Amino acid sequence: MGNIRVVHIGCGGPAIDDDQVHPDSLPAFLTSEKFSVTCLTCLDEITDRSEIELAEYLNQ
Ligand SMILES: [Zn+2]
Repeated sequence: MGNIRVVHIGCGGPAIDDDQVHPDSLPAFLTSEKFSVTCLTCLDEITDRSEIELAEYLNQ
């Protein structure tokens, strides 16, 4: 089963807790035009989809 990891392009670190992102129920920042999340790594505020990168990975 795949999960989605959200990476903040600006710092290269994880931007969203893995537990909050699931393929079956996408959070607001993936489905809404306007959103605001705080990067877990550098604590920058992210308001643009182009600032985050989605990577799917497999759980063991
Ligand atoms: Zn960051």
